[in-house]
Amino acid sequence: MEATADFVVESPDVVYGPDTIEAQYEYRTACVSREGNVLKVYPTSTRFTFRTARQVPRLGVMLVGWGGNNGSTLTAAVLANRLRLSWPTRTGRKEANYYGSLTQAGTVSLGLDAEGQEVFVPFSSLLPMVAPDDLVFDGWDISSLNLAEAMRRAQVLDWGLQEQLWPHLEALRPRPSVYIPEFIAANQSVRADNLILGTRAQQLEQIRRDIRDFRSSAGLDKVIVLWTANTERFCEVVPGLNDTAENLLRTIQLGLEVSPSTLFAVASILEGCAFLNGSPQNTLVPGALELARQRRVFVGGDDFKSGQTKVKSVLVDFLIGSGLKTMSIVSYNHLGNNDGQNLSAPPQFRSKEVSKSSVVDDMVQSNPVLYRPGEEPDHCVVIKYVPYVGDSKRALDEYTSELMLGGTNTLVLHNTCEDSLLAAPIMLDLVLLTELCQRVSFCTDTDPEPQGFHSVLSLLSFLFKAPLVPPGSPVVNALFRQRSCIENILRACVGLPPQNHMLLEHKME
Ligand code: NAD
Repeated sequence: MEATADFVVESPDVVYGPDTIEAQYEYRTACVSREGNVLKVYPTSTRFTFRTARQVPRLGVMLVGWGGNNGSTLTAAVLANRLRLSWPTRTGRKEANYYGSLTQAGTVSLGLDAEGQEVFVPFSSLLPMVAPDDLVFDGWDISSLNLAEAMRRAQVLDWGLQEQLWPHLEALRPRPSVYIPEFIAANQSVRADNLILGTRAQQLEQIRRDIRDFRSSAGLDKVIVLWTANTERFCEVVPGLNDTAENLLRTIQLGLEVSPSTLFAVASILEGCAFLNGSPQNTLVPGALELARQRRVFVGGDDFKSGQTKVKSVLVDFLIGSGLKTMSIVSYNHLGNNDGQNLSAPPQFRSKEVSKSSVVDDMVQSNPVLYRPGEEPDHCVVIKYVPYVGDSKRALDEYTSELMLGGTNTLVLHNTCEDSLLAAPIMLDLVLLTELCQRVSFCTDTDPEPQGFHSVLSLLSFLFKAPLVPPGSPVVNALFRQRSCIENILRACVGLPPQNHMLLEHKME
Protein backbone atom coordinates (compact mmCIF):
# COMPACT_ATOMS: atom_id res chain seq x y z
CA MET A 1 0.00 0.00 0.00
CA GLU A 2 1.94 3.02 -1.13
CA ALA A 3 0.20 6.33 -0.85
CA THR A 4 0.94 8.45 -3.91
CA ALA A 5 1.99 12.05 -3.36
CA ASP A 6 -0.38 14.59 -4.87
CA PHE A 7 2.47 17.02 -5.27
CA VAL A 8 6.22 16.84 -5.75
CA VAL A 9 8.73 19.29 -4.30
CA GLU A 10 11.26 20.13 -7.04
CA SER A 11 14.41 20.98 -5.09
CA PRO A 12 17.97 19.71 -4.79
CA ASP A 13 17.26 19.46 -1.06
CA VAL A 14 14.54 16.83 -1.48
CA VAL A 15 15.08 13.27 -2.67
CA TYR A 16 12.13 10.93 -3.28
CA GLY A 17 13.63 7.45 -2.92
CA PRO A 18 11.72 4.19 -3.35
CA ASP A 19 11.43 3.78 0.44
CA THR A 20 11.92 7.24 1.92
CA ILE A 21 11.50 10.93 1.33
CA GLU A 22 14.68 12.67 2.42
CA ALA A 23 14.80 16.42 2.93
CA GLN A 24 17.60 18.77 3.89
CA TYR A 25 16.21 21.54 6.05
CA GLU A 26 17.64 24.70 7.55
CA TYR A 27 16.06 25.25 10.99
CA ARG A 28 16.35 28.94 11.81
CA THR A 29 15.57 30.20 15.28
CA ALA A 30 17.25 32.45 17.86
CA CYS A 31 18.97 32.17 21.24
CA VAL A 32 18.41 34.92 23.79
CA SER A 33 20.70 35.82 26.65
CA ARG A 34 20.23 38.40 29.37
CA GLU A 35 23.26 40.67 29.60
CA GLY A 36 22.67 43.33 32.23
CA ASN A 37 19.52 45.18 31.22
CA VAL A 38 19.84 44.15 27.61
CA LEU A 39 18.53 41.03 25.92
CA LYS A 40 21.01 39.84 23.33
CA VAL A 41 19.42 37.81 20.53
CA TYR A 42 21.54 35.52 18.41
CA PRO A 43 19.91 34.12 15.26
CA THR A 44 20.87 30.46 14.84
CA SER A 45 20.68 27.99 12.01
CA THR A 46 20.87 24.20 12.22
CA ARG A 47 20.92 21.88 9.23
CA PHE A 48 18.57 18.93 9.65
CA THR A 49 18.09 15.89 7.45
CA PHE A 50 14.55 14.49 7.75
CA ARG A 51 13.79 10.98 6.52
CA THR A 52 10.21 9.74 6.23
CA ALA A 53 9.45 6.12 5.39
CA ARG A 54 6.92 6.08 2.52
CA GLN A 55 5.40 2.68 3.17
CA VAL A 56 2.10 3.09 4.97
CA PRO A 57 1.43 0.20 7.41
CA ARG A 58 -1.73 -1.76 8.06
CA LEU A 59 -2.71 -0.05 11.29
CA GLY A 60 -4.86 -1.32 14.13
CA VAL A 61 -6.39 0.90 16.79
CA MET A 62 -7.37 -0.43 20.20
CA LEU A 63 -9.74 1.79 22.13
CA VAL A 64 -10.04 1.48 25.89
CA GLY A 65 -13.71 2.35 26.45
CA TRP A 66 -14.61 1.08 22.96
CA GLY A 67 -18.30 0.80 23.82
CA GLY A 68 -18.59 4.41 25.00
CA ASN A 69 -19.96 7.36 23.06
CA ASN A 70 -16.61 8.31 21.56
CA GLY A 71 -15.50 4.75 20.88
CA SER A 72 -18.71 3.68 19.18
CA THR A 73 -19.01 6.96 17.26
CA LEU A 74 -15.46 6.77 15.89
CA THR A 75 -15.90 3.15 14.81
CA ALA A 76 -19.24 4.01 13.19
CA ALA A 77 -17.76 7.06 11.43
CA VAL A 78 -14.95 5.07 9.83
CA LEU A 79 -17.36 2.36 8.71
CA ALA A 80 -19.81 4.91 7.32
CA ASN A 81 -17.03 6.51 5.30
CA ARG A 82 -15.59 3.19 4.15
CA LEU A 83 -19.04 2.06 2.98
CA ARG A 84 -19.79 5.52 1.49
CA LEU A 85 -23.09 5.59 3.35
CA SER A 86 -25.75 8.25 2.98
CA TRP A 87 -29.02 8.52 4.91
CA PRO A 88 -32.13 10.66 4.94
CA THR A 89 -32.74 13.27 7.65
CA ARG A 90 -35.46 15.86 8.06
CA THR A 91 -33.14 18.44 6.44
CA GLY A 92 -32.20 16.22 3.48
CA ARG A 93 -29.75 13.43 2.70
CA LYS A 94 -26.45 13.45 4.55
CA GLU A 95 -23.28 11.72 3.41
CA ALA A 96 -20.46 10.30 5.52
CA ASN A 97 -17.48 12.64 5.84
CA TYR A 98 -14.60 13.45 8.16
CA TYR A 99 -15.46 17.03 9.11
CA GLY A 100 -13.57 18.09 12.23
CA SER A 101 -10.42 16.15 11.36
CA LEU A 102 -7.36 18.31 10.81
CA THR A 103 -5.72 15.70 8.59
CA GLN A 104 -8.84 14.76 6.59
CA ALA A 105 -10.72 18.04 6.33
CA GLY A 106 -7.97 20.65 6.86
CA THR A 107 -5.76 22.09 4.13
CA VAL A 108 -2.34 23.70 3.80
CA SER A 109 -1.06 26.28 1.36
CA LEU A 110 1.84 25.07 -0.80
CA GLY A 111 2.70 28.49 -2.21
CA LEU A 112 1.57 30.88 -4.95
CA ASP A 113 0.68 30.00 -8.54
CA ALA A 114 1.51 32.06 -11.65
CA GLU A 115 -1.43 34.38 -10.91
CA GLY A 116 -0.15 35.04 -7.40
CA GLN A 117 -2.92 32.97 -5.79
CA GLU A 118 -2.35 30.48 -2.98
CA VAL A 119 -2.62 26.79 -3.87
CA PHE A 120 -4.15 24.63 -1.13
CA VAL A 121 -3.93 20.86 -0.76
CA PRO A 122 -5.48 18.57 1.85
CA PHE A 123 -3.41 18.32 5.02
CA SER A 124 -3.24 14.56 4.52
CA SER A 125 -1.35 14.94 1.26
CA LEU A 126 1.69 16.58 2.88
CA LEU A 127 3.22 13.16 3.63
CA PRO A 128 2.11 9.54 3.15
CA MET A 129 -0.44 8.84 5.89
CA VAL A 130 -2.68 5.90 6.71
CA ALA A 131 -6.12 6.41 5.17
CA PRO A 132 -8.73 6.42 7.94
CA ASP A 133 -10.98 4.08 5.96
CA ASP A 134 -8.23 1.42 6.25
CA LEU A 135 -8.03 1.47 10.05
CA VAL A 136 -8.90 -1.74 11.87
CA PHE A 137 -10.59 -1.34 15.27
CA ASP A 138 -10.64 -3.41 18.42
CA GLY A 139 -10.71 -2.57 22.10
CA TRP A 140 -11.85 -3.14 25.64
CA ASP A 141 -14.82 -2.03 27.73
CA ILE A 142 -16.10 -2.90 31.18
CA SER A 143 -19.56 -2.95 29.56
CA SER A 144 -20.27 -6.01 27.42
CA LEU A 145 -22.62 -4.42 24.85
CA ASN A 146 -21.62 -5.04 21.26
CA LEU A 147 -20.80 -2.00 19.14
CA ALA A 148 -24.24 -1.86 17.52
CA GLU A 149 -25.95 -1.78 20.91
CA ALA A 150 -23.33 0.70 22.16
CA MET A 151 -24.09 2.98 19.19
CA ARG A 152 -27.79 2.85 20.06
CA ARG A 153 -27.08 3.54 23.75
CA ALA A 154 -24.93 6.56 22.79
CA GLN A 155 -27.82 8.27 20.92
CA VAL A 156 -25.41 10.24 18.77
CA LEU A 157 -26.13 9.15 15.19
CA ASP A 158 -29.23 9.66 13.06
CA TRP A 159 -31.55 6.66 13.04
CA GLY A 160 -31.16 6.08 9.28
CA LEU A 161 -27.41 5.79 9.69
CA GLN A 162 -27.73 3.52 12.73
CA GLU A 163 -29.97 1.13 10.77
CA GLN A 164 -27.43 0.78 7.98
CA LEU A 165 -24.49 0.36 10.35
CA TRP A 166 -26.18 -2.12 12.68
CA PRO A 167 -25.27 -5.37 10.84
CA HIS A 168 -21.66 -4.27 10.48
CA LEU A 169 -21.25 -3.28 14.12
CA GLU A 170 -23.14 -6.15 15.69
CA ALA A 171 -20.23 -8.57 15.44
CA LEU A 172 -17.81 -6.22 17.17
CA ARG A 173 -17.65 -6.92 20.87
CA PRO A 174 -15.30 -5.21 23.36
CA ARG A 175 -12.81 -7.38 25.18
CA PRO A 176 -13.19 -7.57 28.99
CA SER A 177 -11.38 -4.80 30.85
CA VAL A 178 -9.89 -3.84 34.20
CA TYR A 179 -12.38 -2.30 36.62
CA ILE A 180 -11.12 -0.75 39.85
CA PRO A 181 -14.23 0.90 41.30
CA GLU A 182 -12.47 3.62 43.29
CA PHE A 183 -11.08 5.25 40.15
CA ILE A 184 -14.36 6.10 38.40
CA ALA A 185 -17.70 7.31 39.73
CA ALA A 186 -19.83 4.85 41.71
CA ASN A 187 -22.65 5.51 39.21
CA GLN A 188 -20.66 3.51 36.59
CA SER A 189 -20.85 0.22 38.49
CA VAL A 190 -24.06 -0.87 36.71
CA ARG A 191 -22.15 -1.05 33.42
CA ALA A 192 -19.33 -3.18 34.77
CA ASP A 193 -20.22 -6.67 33.52
CA ASN A 194 -17.22 -7.47 31.31
CA LEU A 195 -14.14 -7.74 33.49
CA ILE A 196 -10.62 -9.12 33.56
CA LEU A 197 -10.28 -10.71 36.98
CA GLY A 198 -7.11 -11.67 38.84
CA THR A 199 -4.15 -9.81 40.29
CA ARG A 200 -2.80 -6.59 38.78
CA ALA A 201 0.09 -8.58 37.31
CA GLN A 202 -2.35 -11.06 35.71
CA GLN A 203 -4.49 -8.19 34.39
CA LEU A 204 -1.41 -6.59 32.84
CA GLU A 205 -0.51 -9.87 31.15
CA GLN A 206 -4.06 -10.25 29.80
CA ILE A 207 -3.99 -6.78 28.23
CA ARG A 208 -0.63 -7.59 26.65
CA ARG A 209 -2.03 -10.88 25.31
CA ASP A 210 -5.04 -9.00 23.88
CA ILE A 211 -2.75 -6.60 22.00
CA ARG A 212 -0.68 -9.46 20.59
CA ASP A 213 -3.80 -11.40 19.67
CA PHE A 214 -5.30 -8.45 17.79
CA ARG A 215 -2.04 -7.76 15.99
CA SER A 216 -1.65 -11.32 14.74
CA SER A 217 -5.30 -12.22 14.10
CA ALA A 218 -5.96 -9.04 12.10
CA GLY A 219 -2.60 -9.26 10.28
CA LEU A 220 -1.46 -5.82 11.41
CA ASP A 221 1.91 -4.12 11.11
CA LYS A 222 1.27 -1.76 14.01
CA VAL A 223 -1.17 -1.16 16.85
CA ILE A 224 -1.87 2.11 18.66
CA VAL A 225 -3.78 2.16 21.96
CA LEU A 226 -6.04 5.08 22.82
CA TRP A 227 -7.72 5.64 26.22
CA THR A 228 -11.25 6.94 25.68
CA ALA A 229 -12.76 5.35 28.77
CA ASN A 230 -14.26 7.23 31.69
CA THR A 231 -12.35 9.97 33.44
CA GLU A 232 -10.61 8.57 36.50
CA ARG A 233 -9.71 10.39 39.66
CA PHE A 234 -6.10 11.50 39.88
CA CYS A 235 -3.72 8.97 41.34
CA GLU A 236 -1.13 10.08 43.82
CA VAL A 237 2.42 10.25 42.57
CA VAL A 238 4.36 8.62 45.37
CA PRO A 239 8.11 8.07 45.55
CA GLY A 240 8.77 4.35 45.53
CA LEU A 241 5.33 3.57 44.02
CA ASN A 242 5.14 5.06 40.53
CA ASP A 243 7.96 7.60 40.26
CA THR A 244 10.31 5.42 38.19
CA ALA A 245 9.77 2.70 35.61
CA GLU A 246 11.25 0.09 37.93
CA ASN A 247 9.03 1.12 40.86
CA LEU A 248 5.91 1.19 38.71
CA LEU A 249 6.55 -2.32 37.38
CA ARG A 250 7.20 -3.54 40.92
CA THR A 251 4.01 -1.88 42.16
CA ILE A 252 2.04 -3.83 39.54
CA GLN A 253 3.74 -7.09 40.52
CA LEU A 254 2.99 -6.46 44.21
CA GLY A 255 -0.64 -5.45 43.55
CA LEU A 256 -0.23 -1.98 45.10
CA GLU A 257 -2.22 1.04 43.91
CA VAL A 258 -2.21 1.60 40.15
CA SER A 259 -5.04 3.02 38.05
CA PRO A 260 -6.59 1.02 35.19
CA SER A 261 -5.42 3.63 32.69
CA THR A 262 -1.82 3.39 33.90
CA LEU A 263 -2.06 -0.40 33.64
CA PHE A 264 -3.13 -0.01 29.99
CA ALA A 265 -0.33 2.49 29.34
CA VAL A 266 2.27 0.12 30.78
CA ALA A 267 0.90 -2.85 28.79
CA SER A 268 0.98 -0.82 25.55
CA ILE A 269 4.51 0.43 26.14
CA LEU A 270 5.74 -3.07 26.96
CA GLU A 271 4.18 -4.27 23.68
CA GLY A 272 5.90 -1.43 21.78
CA CYS A 273 2.58 0.28 20.99
CA ALA A 274 2.07 4.03 21.28
CA PHE A 275 -0.36 4.98 24.04
CA LEU A 276 -2.54 8.12 23.90
CA ASN A 277 -4.62 9.39 26.82
CA GLY A 278 -7.88 11.07 25.82
CA SER A 279 -9.06 11.72 29.38
CA PRO A 280 -7.77 14.23 31.91
CA GLN A 281 -6.41 12.02 34.70
CA ASN A 282 -2.65 11.67 35.29
CA THR A 283 -2.32 8.24 33.67
CA LEU A 284 1.18 8.95 32.47
CA VAL A 285 2.85 9.07 35.87
CA PRO A 286 6.64 9.64 35.92
CA GLY A 287 7.28 5.89 35.97
CA ALA A 288 5.21 5.38 32.82
CA LEU A 289 7.01 8.24 31.07
CA GLU A 290 10.37 6.73 31.99
CA LEU A 291 9.28 3.34 30.71
CA ALA A 292 8.17 4.89 27.40
CA ARG A 293 11.52 6.62 27.04
CA GLN A 294 13.44 3.43 27.82
CA ARG A 295 11.41 1.45 25.28
CA ARG A 296 11.36 4.27 22.69
CA VAL A 297 7.58 4.21 22.49
CA PHE A 298 5.43 7.30 21.92
CA VAL A 299 3.01 8.48 24.56
CA GLY A 300 0.67 11.46 24.27
CA GLY A 301 -1.95 13.20 26.39
CA ASP A 302 -3.95 14.46 28.16
CA ASP A 303 -7.67 14.90 27.42
CA PHE A 304 -9.03 15.51 23.92
CA LYS A 305 -9.28 19.22 23.12
CA SER A 306 -12.67 19.28 21.48
CA GLY A 307 -15.17 22.09 22.15
CA GLN A 308 -15.09 24.67 24.89
CA THR A 309 -11.36 24.43 25.54
CA LYS A 310 -10.58 24.66 21.84
CA VAL A 311 -12.53 27.90 21.63
CA LYS A 312 -10.80 29.14 24.80
CA SER A 313 -7.38 28.44 23.34
CA VAL A 314 -8.32 30.59 20.35
CA LEU A 315 -10.25 33.33 22.10
CA VAL A 316 -7.80 34.07 24.90
CA ASP A 317 -4.96 34.03 22.37
CA PHE A 318 -6.92 36.56 20.30
CA LEU A 319 -7.70 38.77 23.33
CA ILE A 320 -4.24 38.80 24.90
CA GLY A 321 -2.56 38.76 21.49
CA SER A 322 -4.50 41.92 20.63
CA GLY A 323 -3.34 43.60 23.83
CA LEU A 324 -6.57 43.27 25.83
CA LYS A 325 -6.21 42.25 29.46
CA THR A 326 -8.51 39.30 30.09
CA MET A 327 -9.26 39.16 33.83
CA SER A 328 -12.12 36.70 34.19
CA ILE A 329 -13.00 33.49 32.38
CA VAL A 330 -16.07 31.58 33.53
CA SER A 331 -17.07 28.35 31.81
CA TYR A 332 -20.28 26.44 32.47
CA ASN A 333 -21.07 23.11 30.83
CA HIS A 334 -24.02 20.85 31.01
CA LEU A 335 -24.29 17.52 29.32
CA GLY A 336 -26.36 14.39 29.71
CA ASN A 337 -24.25 11.54 28.38
CA ASN A 338 -22.46 8.90 30.42
CA ASP A 339 -19.31 11.05 30.52
CA GLY A 340 -21.40 13.77 32.19
CA GLN A 341 -22.79 11.31 34.68
CA ASN A 342 -19.31 10.10 35.60
CA LEU A 343 -18.10 13.70 35.94
CA SER A 344 -20.90 14.46 38.41
CA ALA A 345 -18.77 12.78 41.10
CA PRO A 346 -16.34 15.24 42.73
CA PRO A 347 -12.99 13.36 42.30
CA GLN A 348 -13.63 12.79 38.57
CA PHE A 349 -14.83 16.38 38.11
CA ARG A 350 -11.60 17.52 39.81
CA SER A 351 -9.50 15.78 37.09
CA LYS A 352 -11.49 17.60 34.40
CA GLU A 353 -11.34 20.92 36.24
CA VAL A 354 -7.56 20.77 36.41
CA SER A 355 -7.15 19.90 32.74
CA LYS A 356 -9.56 22.66 31.68
CA SER A 357 -7.89 25.28 33.89
CA SER A 358 -4.29 25.29 32.71
CA VAL A 359 -5.21 26.15 29.14
CA VAL A 360 -4.56 29.90 29.23
CA ASP A 361 -1.31 29.87 31.24
CA ASP A 362 1.08 30.20 28.31
CA MET A 363 -0.88 33.09 26.80
CA VAL A 364 -0.91 35.00 30.09
CA GLN A 365 2.79 34.35 30.67
CA SER A 366 3.62 35.48 27.12
CA ASN A 367 2.54 39.03 27.90
CA PRO A 368 4.44 40.78 30.73
CA VAL A 369 3.15 44.10 29.38
CA LEU A 370 -0.36 43.19 30.57
CA TYR A 371 0.28 40.86 33.50
CA ARG A 372 2.63 41.38 36.46
CA PRO A 373 4.60 38.27 37.52
CA GLY A 374 2.15 35.90 39.21
CA GLU A 375 -0.93 37.85 38.07
CA GLU A 376 -3.52 35.78 36.21
CA PRO A 377 -7.22 35.94 35.27
CA ASP A 378 -9.87 34.42 37.55
CA HIS A 379 -10.78 31.13 35.89
CA CYS A 380 -13.81 29.12 36.97
CA VAL A 381 -15.05 25.85 35.46
CA VAL A 382 -18.45 24.30 36.26
CA ILE A 383 -19.85 21.02 34.85
CA LYS A 384 -23.40 19.82 35.51
CA TYR A 385 -25.09 16.56 34.55
CA VAL A 386 -28.45 17.11 32.86
CA PRO A 387 -29.62 13.74 31.44
CA TYR A 388 -32.21 15.14 29.01
CA VAL A 389 -29.68 16.87 26.72
CA GLY A 390 -27.78 13.58 26.19
CA ASP A 391 -24.66 13.89 24.04
CA SER A 392 -25.69 17.39 22.94
CA LYS A 393 -23.35 19.31 25.18
CA ARG A 394 -23.99 22.96 26.07
CA ALA A 395 -21.09 25.22 26.92
CA LEU A 396 -21.61 28.78 28.15
CA ASP A 397 -18.58 30.98 28.53
CA GLU A 398 -18.02 34.53 29.69
CA TYR A 399 -14.74 36.39 29.08
CA THR A 400 -14.21 39.77 30.70
CA SER A 401 -11.25 41.89 29.62
CA GLU A 402 -9.96 45.34 30.47
CA LEU A 403 -9.85 47.88 27.65
CA MET A 404 -7.82 51.10 27.58
CA LEU A 405 -8.72 53.93 29.94
CA GLY A 406 -10.80 51.82 32.30
CA GLY A 407 -13.13 50.25 29.74
CA THR A 408 -14.51 46.71 30.01
CA ASN A 409 -15.30 44.16 27.32
CA THR A 410 -17.48 41.14 28.12
CA LEU A 411 -17.88 38.38 25.57
CA VAL A 412 -20.51 35.68 26.09
CA LEU A 413 -20.57 32.48 24.06
CA HIS A 414 -23.10 29.68 23.81
CA ASN A 415 -21.93 26.52 22.10
CA THR A 416 -24.16 23.47 21.47
CA CYS A 417 -23.06 20.34 19.68
CA GLU A 418 -22.86 16.57 19.78
CA ASP A 419 -19.81 16.06 21.95
CA SER A 420 -18.78 12.75 20.44
CA LEU A 421 -18.95 14.06 16.89
CA LEU A 422 -16.33 16.61 17.91
CA ALA A 423 -14.16 14.08 19.72
CA ALA A 424 -14.17 11.28 17.11
CA PRO A 425 -12.25 13.16 14.36
CA ILE A 426 -9.72 14.27 16.99
CA MET A 427 -9.16 10.64 17.93
CA LEU A 428 -8.60 9.90 14.26
CA ASP A 429 -6.00 12.65 13.91
CA LEU A 430 -4.20 11.50 17.04
CA VAL A 431 -3.80 8.02 15.66
CA LEU A 432 -2.84 9.05 12.12
CA LEU A 433 -0.30 11.66 13.22
CA THR A 434 1.25 9.38 15.84
CA GLU A 435 1.67 6.66 13.22
CA LEU A 436 3.24 9.14 10.80
CA CYS A 437 5.68 10.34 13.49
CA GLN A 438 6.78 6.73 13.97
CA ARG A 439 8.05 6.79 10.36
CA VAL A 440 10.04 10.04 10.69
CA SER A 441 13.68 10.17 11.73
CA PHE A 442 16.17 13.00 11.60
CA CYS A 443 19.75 13.99 12.25
CA THR A 444 21.65 17.25 12.33
CA ASP A 445 25.09 18.27 11.15
CA THR A 446 26.34 18.27 14.73
CA ASP A 447 24.52 15.05 15.72
CA PRO A 448 24.62 12.71 12.70
CA GLU A 449 23.11 9.76 14.60
CA PRO A 450 19.51 9.35 13.30
CA GLN A 451 16.87 9.76 15.99
CA GLY A 452 13.10 9.94 16.26
CA PHE A 453 10.95 12.45 18.08
CA HIS A 454 11.03 12.47 21.90
CA SER A 455 8.89 9.70 23.38
CA VAL A 456 6.52 12.35 24.80
CA LEU A 457 4.99 13.34 21.49
CA SER A 458 4.30 17.04 22.08
CA LEU A 459 3.58 17.55 18.38
CA LEU A 460 0.08 16.32 19.27
CA SER A 461 -0.56 19.35 21.53
CA PHE A 462 -3.17 20.75 19.09
CA LEU A 463 -5.38 17.78 19.95
CA PHE A 464 -5.05 17.77 23.77
CA LYS A 465 -6.48 20.08 26.44
CA ALA A 466 -3.52 19.70 28.80
CA PRO A 467 -0.65 18.79 26.48
CA LEU A 468 2.09 16.57 27.82
CA VAL A 469 5.53 17.76 26.81
CA PRO A 470 9.07 16.52 27.47
CA PRO A 471 10.59 17.75 30.76
CA GLY A 472 11.71 21.38 30.49
CA SER A 473 9.84 22.00 27.23
CA PRO A 474 7.41 24.96 27.12
CA VAL A 475 3.73 23.99 27.07
CA VAL A 476 1.90 25.63 24.18
CA ASN A 477 -1.88 25.87 24.43
CA ALA A 478 -2.60 28.58 21.83
CA LEU A 479 -4.41 26.69 19.09
CA PHE A 480 -2.88 28.20 15.98
CA ARG A 481 0.64 27.99 17.37
CA GLN A 482 -0.08 24.30 17.93
CA ARG A 483 -1.43 23.90 14.40
CA SER A 484 1.59 25.69 12.91
CA CYS A 485 3.87 23.34 14.81
CA ILE A 486 2.34 20.29 13.14
CA GLU A 487 2.12 21.91 9.73
CA ASN A 488 5.66 23.29 9.76
CA ILE A 489 7.25 20.05 10.96
CA LEU A 490 5.42 18.13 8.24
CA ARG A 491 6.49 20.75 5.70
CA ALA A 492 10.10 20.41 6.89
CA CYS A 493 9.90 16.67 6.14
CA VAL A 494 9.31 17.50 2.45
CA GLY A 495 11.80 20.36 2.41
CA LEU A 496 9.23 23.17 2.39
CA PRO A 497 9.89 26.36 4.38
CA PRO A 498 7.71 27.11 7.41
CA GLN A 499 4.45 28.87 6.62
CA ASN A 500 5.18 32.52 7.41
CA HIS A 501 2.08 34.25 6.00
CA MET A 502 4.19 37.23 4.94
CA LEU A 503 2.99 37.26 1.30
CA LEU A 504 5.82 39.68 0.52
CA GLU A 505 5.20 39.10 -3.20
CA HIS A 506 2.01 41.10 -2.75
CA LYS A 507 3.55 43.88 -0.70
CA MET A 508 5.77 45.23 -3.47
CA GLU A 509 4.92 47.64 -6.30
P1 NAD B 1 -18.56 7.30 27.77
O1 NAD B 1 -18.87 7.26 29.22
O2 NAD B 1 -19.68 7.25 26.80
O3 NAD B 1 -17.55 6.14 27.38
C1 NAD B 1 -16.59 5.64 28.24
C2 NAD B 1 -16.59 4.13 28.16
O4 NAD B 1 -15.51 3.66 28.95
C3 NAD B 1 -17.85 3.47 28.69
O5 NAD B 1 -18.39 2.61 27.72
C4 NAD B 1 -17.39 2.71 29.93
O6 NAD B 1 -18.10 1.54 30.11
C5 NAD B 1 -15.95 2.46 29.58
N1 NAD B 1 -15.02 2.24 30.71
C6 NAD B 1 -14.96 2.82 31.91
N2 NAD B 1 -13.90 2.36 32.61
C7 NAD B 1 -13.27 1.47 31.81
C8 NAD B 1 -12.11 0.69 31.95
N3 NAD B 1 -11.39 0.69 33.07
N4 NAD B 1 -11.73 -0.08 30.90
C9 NAD B 1 -12.46 -0.09 29.75
N5 NAD B 1 -13.58 0.62 29.57
C10 NAD B 1 -13.97 1.40 30.59
O7 NAD B 1 -17.69 8.64 27.59
P2 NAD B 1 -17.30 9.39 26.22
O8 NAD B 1 -18.25 10.49 25.99
O9 NAD B 1 -17.05 8.38 25.16
O10 NAD B 1 -15.91 10.05 26.67
C11 NAD B 1 -14.81 9.21 26.91
C12 NAD B 1 -13.70 9.96 27.61
O11 NAD B 1 -13.22 10.99 26.76
C13 NAD B 1 -14.14 10.63 28.91
O12 NAD B 1 -13.15 10.47 29.90
C14 NAD B 1 -14.25 12.06 28.53
O13 NAD B 1 -14.04 12.94 29.62
C15 NAD B 1 -13.13 12.18 27.51
N6 NAD B 1 -13.31 13.35 26.64
C16 NAD B 1 -14.40 13.45 25.81
C17 NAD B 1 -14.55 14.56 25.01
C18 NAD B 1 -15.70 14.72 24.05
O14 NAD B 1 -15.84 15.72 23.42
N7 NAD B 1 -16.55 13.75 23.88
C19 NAD B 1 -13.60 15.57 25.06
C20 NAD B 1 -12.52 15.43 25.90
C21 NAD B 1 -12.37 14.29 26.66
